[in-house]
Amino acid sequence: MRGRTGITVVCIYILCFFSFIMFKLGDNRDEPEAVVKPVNNDFVIIIDAGHGGSDGGAVASDGTNEAVINLEIAKKLCDGLSLIGFNTVMTRTDENSLGESSSTIRNEKISDIHKRMDIMNSFDNCVFISVHQNYYRGSSSWGTQVFYSGNNEQSEPLAESIQSSVKVLVQPDNKRMIKKSGSDIYLLYKAEKPAVLVECGFMSNDEELLRLKNEDYQCELTFSIIDGIIDYISEKDVKYGF
Ligand SMILES: [Zn+2]
Repeated sequence: MRGRTGITVVCIYILCFFSFIMFKLGDNRDEPEAVVKPVNNDFVIIIDAGHGGSDGGAVASDGTNEAVINLEIAKKLCDGLSLIGFNTVMTRTDENSLGESSSTIRNEKISDIHKRMDIMNSFDNCVFISVHQNYYRGSSSWGTQVFYSGNNEQSEPLAESIQSSVKVLVQPDNKRMIKKSGSDIYLLYKAEKPAVLVECGFMSNDEELLRLKNEDYQCELTFSIIDGIIDYISEKDVKYGF
């Protein structure tokens, strides 16, 4: 860890470690609450579980929908970050999309993406972490890769910090690099806040799919993402609400 906040950062790590243990043991905790919690100007971490509703995202060979894994990891992220004292917001907390259900599927997707953007824009002091799973034609591709928005200069270091933590803590053989998003990732392309999208792994790789569906692996991955977020914050000296 790099950082100049010394003891504070060490304390955060110790707190994080014990919270993570509690978090792993606490499988029967209540579900996260409403999508938007009342907040003030404090720093907020927005966790965005990709897809939902009629848009299940990528579909694995065993029929697993990406949207399901996204939500499982997003909830763990939200729980872990909340436990160590961060203000958190989830864009969705169940299998439904945010879009208007009475509209066509296309209109539902457009409405859904705009509502996610509205949530991001409703906070002045925030970072936006979108959780997705990757898919590729071949079955050999594997590994987490973090994409970042080019509109805010804080997006790249946030992405780099998460990518680095995942490699160090969970995937030492992962050679993937962070990548600036294009217009194909609408939320990042339009984001004005620090915003990243974590492609946690490849659902097209059967071995990695098994890991991505595994509770313990999800916890390990979540912990490494949280570690990356904390590292980013300690570097940037962002004021956040404990
Ligand atoms: Zn996706």
